[in-house]
Amino acid sequence: MSDDEKKPARKPLTLKGAQPGEVKQTFSHGRTNKVAVEVKRRRKLVKPGEAPPPPPPPAPEPAPAPAPAPKAAAPKKPAPKKPSASDETAQERVARLQREAEEERLRLAEEARKREEQKAKQSAAEEKKRAEKNKKAEAEAEKRASEEAKAAAEAEKAAKAEASDAKDASATADTTAAKGSPTPAARKFTPVARPEPKRPAKKKDDKRPAKDAGPGKDKRRSGKLTVTKALNEDEGRRARSLAALKRAREKERRMQGGGSSKPREKQVRDVVVPEAITVGELAKRMGEKGADLVKELFNLDMMVTVNQTIDQDTAELLVEQFGHNIQKVSEADVDIQTEEDVDPEETLRPRPPVVTIMGHVDHGKTSLLDALRGTDVTKGEAGGITQHIGSYQVTTKDKAKITFLDTPGHAAFTEMRQRGANVTDIVVLVVAADDGIMPQTIEAINHTKAAGVPMIVAINKMDKPEANPDNIRNRLLEHEVIVEKLSGDVQDVEISAKEKTGLDELLEKIALQAELLELKARPDRDAEATVIEAQLDKGRGPVATVLITRGTLKRGDTFVVGTESGRVRAIVNDQGKQIKEAGPSMPVEVLGLGGVPSAGDQLTVVENEQRAREVAQYRQEKATEKRTALAPTSFDTMFNNLASNVIEWPVLVKADVQGSVEAIVNALHNISTDDIKARVLHAGVGAITESDVQLAAASNAPIIGFNVRPNAKARELVKRDNVRMMYYDVIYHLTEEVAKEMAGELGPERIETVVGRAQVKEVFKSGKKDKAAGLLVEDGVIRKGLFARLTRDDVIVSATTIASLRRFKDDVDEVRSGLECGVVLEDTNDIKPGDQLEVFEVEERERTLEVG
Ligand code: GDP
Ligand code: MG
Repeated sequence: MSDDEKKPARKPLTLKGAQPGEVKQTFSHGRTNKVAVEVKRRRKLVKPGEAPPPPPPPAPEPAPAPAPAPKAAAPKKPAPKKPSASDETAQERVARLQREAEEERLRLAEEARKREEQKAKQSAAEEKKRAEKNKKAEAEAEKRASEEAKAAAEAEKAAKAEASDAKDASATADTTAAKGSPTPAARKFTPVARPEPKRPAKKKDDKRPAKDAGPGKDKRRSGKLTVTKALNEDEGRRARSLAALKRAREKERRMQGGGSSKPREKQVRDVVVPEAITVGELAKRMGEKGADLVKELFNLDMMVTVNQTIDQDTAELLVEQFGHNIQKVSEADVDIQTEEDVDPEETLRPRPPVVTIMGHVDHGKTSLLDALRGTDVTKGEAGGITQHIGSYQVTTKDKAKITFLDTPGHAAFTEMRQRGANVTDIVVLVVAADDGIMPQTIEAINHTKAAGVPMIVAINKMDKPEANPDNIRNRLLEHEVIVEKLSGDVQDVEISAKEKTGLDELLEKIALQAELLELKARPDRDAEATVIEAQLDKGRGPVATVLITRGTLKRGDTFVVGTESGRVRAIVNDQGKQIKEAGPSMPVEVLGLGGVPSAGDQLTVVENEQRAREVAQYRQEKATEKRTALAPTSFDTMFNNLASNVIEWPVLVKADVQGSVEAIVNALHNISTDDIKARVLHAGVGAITESDVQLAAASNAPIIGFNVRPNAKARELVKRDNVRMMYYDVIYHLTEEVAKEMAGELGPERIETVVGRAQVKEVFKSGKKDKAAGLLVEDGVIRKGLFARLTRDDVIVSATTIASLRRFKDDVDEVRSGLECGVVLEDTNDIKPGDQLEVFEVEERERTLEVG
């Protein structure tokens, strides 16, 4: 748009029907002003090479009615909702043109004024001549303009020029009529009736120029861009002072703002708004100040900060209030919609059932899984609860395959389900025949019922003499579980995980149940899978254990998983072997992830990396929004909150694997009440570090260490700053205790005092099956009978007690720092040289309220 080329086209004009060079201005508030006019053709939006643009109009546009009509229009919504959000570039361009035009206008106005003095002498004849010339050029321009969207603004000017009736030239006010509607293309070709009804008085004037200039003109004009128009009119009265121009512009802008009170440089934007957005981000996208948005929300009775998230509807309100155009983006536009992608019936093939084993602690879940797999993973489990999901597939005698998921607890099961990851087809409820229905048994029943998943009751420990399976069956009735033996429809089977009896029968029953379910999935398509467990592996990077839900996952596939993207570098099956592909219901480890996903996340193979990244990024943004989310608080709720005195219970969470972190954080939120809420300051995987302790100390918050311990430096800080440490290795204990504490039912406090530390130097056999450890006591003392924790790289391997303590060949009660000794740990044989042993006393003390 080379302006220079076009400059020659600028010419002063005379006004018809008025004294040459003079115009009477009428202002909305009744003020009038007589000004000398010499119109300068400003800038042409014509392409270079085309004929010069139309000369300046001899008079300002008559149509613009200053007063009532435009005013009425102004306070209205920021406007004509933009017809289509798709033409973004065109809009931007117009916005830019407007801006440039304005600048140019100011400059020209000044120039014009100066020149006017000289030109005042010019003869009327000369002016007439020029006017004629201009007219011609103008007609030409008009033609072009009607062909080209780009030229819309220019054409408008021309039209105005034509309307040389300068009588009511109080232009600026009128400009507001079209405020916020900068879509040139749409404008230009649509006979826009919009502004006209609003200024009935001016209709006639509008028409007149149209007649002069031929059809199409009226259209253009009615759809005029406000700023452009203002420019023209100002030109028409070129002698207006700079200050006056500025005032006019100011006013125009104010009106454009649709009532919002910012007299700022306005640029109408297309604001992309997702389903939820933080006020800050919205402000950024709108090009407004966050504080202004907050103020506006305040006016709407919403108390929010810039960091809080508002929903799309509220955002729309704001966007319109500020005169921008909203472009709503829904999840469906960006994210993958797997639900809509349904496989045709004929492509489906039978798939193995996915079985989850549930039941009370120590009723034999892990033992059963082990028995079924024929391997042993119970060793070294802290607290006897299964901490890590180990999933595998067995092939039965009938060659049928069954997938078993070992969940770390019922909470994880439900958490996964809450996230839409209902991967379990069948639940096997393990109940110890010698024990009975316990709290977690009931919990498992409820979780299973809620999930609508069929259940098979496995009555375990049948080898025990005190086993009473019928008692179990009867007790189950109380929980509306009627087993087959009592003519119900829940299959039951007596087993012994220890003696490996009843296992075949259990597998048969699972197969039978699976058959009834007619489980199917399409194998020959891009894979989808659900993350069962994920962690950051020191050697292999982020690793996810996933269960393929449909399709076949292949090495080299590009995928999105949760908020991460990746490319399958390796697939490892449940036996630790690398495989090339994995089909439906197979549990496999996947390597090649960009980051650690969360349990329950969906893995979806996508066509290319770009798509994967796009989706991952979108989800990341959404996740951030969610994290900072807080529903807009109205005054009422705010005061209510103040009145009710909600207590926050700040806490840090560190755990050995991501799955546990999530389960704990989720559990903490679940046990929060209206009166007291857990506020997780930080949650992460790994040892408790100095910065964790610092944060905890600064916030007077306890640190929950799940299967992890502080490293040496952190330990010192804990001591120095007196940070409260809450160590757990069983989630159930954690939630129970925290819930109690938060509910105010504070039982006696369990106070741990570490009395000694030792390092394992060597490990040797002791007796038939036990192991003994040779220790060097590094700190304090070690005493027989004390509680002990064995840690390896700051991760707890086992929590136990000192069963026996020896120095040389003698049993001793106590060994002091600097000495070597041998210990046997109760119930633990997972000991390795290099492990750390921490020995502590536990004292139960009446608790003082230390919440908050
Ligand atoms: P989980 O907490 O449900 O995973 O239970 P475990 O599998 O860890 O078992 C808890 C305890 O019960 C362990 O000491 C097992 O040896 C024992 N156990 C498990 N199954 C049987 C069984 O069938 N018979 C007997 N006698 N003991 C069992
Ligand atoms: Mg277990």
